[in-house]
Amino acid sequence: MSDLILFWHRRDLRVSDSIGLAQACNTNARVIGVFCFDRAILTNDSVAPARVAYLVGCLKSLAEDYRRAGSQLLFVEGNPVVKIPLLATTLAAKAVYWHLDIEPYSQTRDESIATTLKSHNIEVHTSWDQLLHAPTEITTGNKQPYTVYTPFWRNWSSRSKPAPVEVKLPPSQLEANELSALTQVPTIDLPTAKDLGFIWENPLKLEPGTSAAARELEAFCHRSICEYDEQRNYPAIAGTSGLSSALKFGVIGIRTVWAATIEAMAETRSDEARAGITTWQQELAWREFYQQAMYHFPSLAQGAYRDALKHFPWQDDGDRFEAWCRGETGYPIVDAAMRQLNEIGWMHNRCRMIVASFLTKDLIINWQWGEKYFMQRLIDGDLSANNGGWQWSASSGMDPKPLRIFNPYTQAQKFDPEADYIRQWVPELKSVDTNLILKGNIPPLTCHQIGYPLPIVEHSVQQRLFKDLYASVKGAA
Ligand code: FAD
Repeated sequence: MSDLILFWHRRDLRVSDSIGLAQACNTNARVIGVFCFDRAILTNDSVAPARVAYLVGCLKSLAEDYRRAGSQLLFVEGNPVVKIPLLATTLAAKAVYWHLDIEPYSQTRDESIATTLKSHNIEVHTSWDQLLHAPTEITTGNKQPYTVYTPFWRNWSSRSKPAPVEVKLPPSQLEANELSALTQVPTIDLPTAKDLGFIWENPLKLEPGTSAAARELEAFCHRSICEYDEQRNYPAIAGTSGLSSALKFGVIGIRTVWAATIEAMAETRSDEARAGITTWQQELAWREFYQQAMYHFPSLAQGAYRDALKHFPWQDDGDRFEAWCRGETGYPIVDAAMRQLNEIGWMHNRCRMIVASFLTKDLIINWQWGEKYFMQRLIDGDLSANNGGWQWSASSGMDPKPLRIFNPYTQAQKFDPEADYIRQWVPELKSVDTNLILKGNIPPLTCHQIGYPLPIVEHSVQQRLFKDLYASVKGAA
């Protein structure tokens, strides 16, 4: 057995603040990184070109970080259940390290790989890294997982948080015999998104990689975090961090992110600023809440959490769904948000809630259609956050007050009062009076002249219909 350790990267595309990588490096063995392009993930129909392009960009920057440290990042392609053990046995690695994940697919895959490696006497070292608290750490007094956010937050926020981890990546190279053995498991050059079958021109101009994410975090903590409480709800303002893709792919360590919030807190005495920082910390806790929920209740990935909503009589209408997808519902705030998603692969959180409510409560279409469409478009698409957001909006999830219906007009009046966001994404409305846009009073003739659709449903009618259906479902109300 050689002194070689493989560190398998998955959603931890960095060499800093990495618990497992630090452990591997502390053994004094050679540490080589590996990333496997998993065909099952890349060929399923819930992949967004934006996400693949961002992933490839992050891998390029990760490979560069390995190279700078005098080490190597290998790329393989295929089924990781086959490829990771094959690579490890071919290189006679003494151990494979990776970080645990909460997603059901990852857990099944990892168990199978661990079993194979152990059967070849290759050590397996796993640890939790993507969360501040492992999913089994924050439980109720009865040692049960939380299903309500507020008590989860109280418990979660009262715990001390781990500090960023220092990683000393040693210079490590494959030896001549190992390189020649690699013919059995061909490694590949880093493909482009196009090589993988995806085309994305990055209209969001989001720079991939750890350095870019660190700069974003610093800028946010010096710029907007103090006003976050106030500004986060206005989609026309860049008042949020824009870190969701970096957090999804672990381009930045969660401990580093938390430490930045503590530093920002220490630098201010203003109550408003402290409220902003706390509210942003609460968003990080939402991320962890939904991840621990997916870990403990993997069936969330398949359908409603609430039994009563498992067979809700959704009125799935393909034409209405298409209109929603294209941003042609005749509801300006909904259309602006959907066009933002279609054009740049990202949507503001307030708008995610508005369009999700509209799809489920106004169009009465199954939330899983929307969940999937989001995954096909979002640069930050993430099973647990997306599922949690959709189930919350659909009244099917972990929410003590589940029946929430957003009025798209009052939402627009409150959160886009000058219709700036609407006009940015729905240019046909540029010269239409703000009041007409916000109150849904654009005359039909004007709609016809500017080529903007009339509302495809009437909010008040659909709201009543949804409430009737909801009341008719046993156990829902
Ligand atoms: P910030 O406001 O700066 O928040 C900081 C970080 O906290 C985010 O980057 C994210 O990691 C986390 N976060 C914030 N809000 C939430 C939340 N409600 N749930 C879980 N984590 C949160 N987020 C995703 O990362 N991926 C998704 O696929 C996703 N789908 C969503 C679908 C719906 C229907 C809804 C309502 C929300 C969804 N969210 C999702 C949550 C949220 O909209 C995004 O995390 C946020 O808009 C990303 O922008 P930001 O990084 O500027 O966020």
